[in-house]
Amino acid sequence: MMLSLRNVSKSYITAEGRLEILKSIDFDLDAGESVALTGESGSGKSTLLHLAGGLDDPDAGQILCAGDDIAALDDRGRAEYRRLSVGLVFQQFNLIPSLDVAANISFHAKLARRHDREWERQLVERLGIDMLLARYPEQLSGGQQQRVAIGRTLAARPKLFLADEPTGNLDEETGDAVLDIMLSLTKTAGAALLMVTHSSRLARKLDRTVHLHAGKIT
Ligand code: ADP
Ligand code: MG
Repeated sequence: MMLSLRNVSKSYITAEGRLEILKSIDFDLDAGESVALTGESGSGKSTLLHLAGGLDDPDAGQILCAGDDIAALDDRGRAEYRRLSVGLVFQQFNLIPSLDVAANISFHAKLARRHDREWERQLVERLGIDMLLARYPEQLSGGQQQRVAIGRTLAARPKLFLADEPTGNLDEETGDAVLDIMLSLTKTAGAALLMVTHSSRLARKLDRTVHLHAGKIT
């Protein structure tokens, strides 16, 4: 199993008191599998992705990646997990403003020691950003930044690909094309994709859909 959540609970303390977001959730994601994560706004989809990516800790339960408990890792192990195993595409693109597109694309791949020029060339061509390589993030539209962010993540060949509405800023045609790339790469690399989406049309392209409601996955 690429990713397993076992009895995972997460709450936030807010001014209004304790908000229980995830209530003893179990979830499995297999290598090569793609799963759509749906649920109303505020249901905890991003929270779940943050936990799976090792960006935050659950209050209880275990998060296993390829059998290893992420919560049990020390800071160094955690950093290594994020660098080597996980690919994140979030709603904020977090491109590095001082680097051009080409350097942004290879940034994570270099950190993961998986920099591969030919692979990056194919990716930027398929994502339709090959003419933008010399530009800086501020010179790109939202949709272009999104494609660069996806390219940067895929360039590093993550085992676990976590995406929070990755095609939300793209028109339907571009969004479909980008999702097709993500899916084919997930399959060929034996990686696993967990993707938050509001679109049932996009969700149908993935292997299965899970729904987050009232702190539970159904
Ligand atoms: P979704 O992605 O499904 O819209 P989120 O996981 O972002 O939902 O948030 C779930 C709930 O937790 C929301 O009510 C949100 O306001 C709250 N929340 C998220 N992060 C925090 C935080 N760091 N502190 C307090 N509340 C938070
Ligand atoms: Mg969210």
